Amino acid sequence: MTALMRNRPVSVQERTCPKCNQSMNPGYSLEESDVQKKLTRWIDGIPNLKPALLAGEYLDVPESPKRFMLGFCCTGCGFIELYAVTEADVQYHGDAAKCEFVFKIRTKSGCIIENTVMQGKDAEAAKYRLRLRYPNCEILEMEET
Ligand SMILES: [Zn+2]
Repeated sequence: MTALMRNRPVSVQERTCPKCNQSMNPGYSLEESDVQKKLTRWIDGIPNLKPALLAGEYLDVPESPKRFMLGFCCTGCGFIELYAVTEADVQYHGDAAKCEFVFKIRTKSGCIIENTVMQGKDAEAAKYRLRLRYPNCEILEMEET
């Protein structure tokens, strides 16, 4: 494999749409079938279609770092800004000194999830990250570790 592509960190924070100046929220692209939900991966380069053995073509995908697309979608006009990142490239709210918090939550669909660990420079930063992962969840308990 070639040298790992290193991105500058992408900061998840307040963003303003360059088209209409409304606020932008983070999001990602999902591939969904009846059985599985998957993140859409980013592959560097131009698609390499090769003839398949029997008929048609197949896509030859090179080894590459597993990057997903993190986007920011305008709440006004729907404009999307995309970044290809690994989980390590995502920086939340200027995390500096990291504290760890353990949450017990009720998700939007009503599931209770215990022992969800989030890091952040303070409780608010950890809650912000939690809400990115579980939108509209209700925090039942929270404890600093
Ligand atoms: Zn906009």
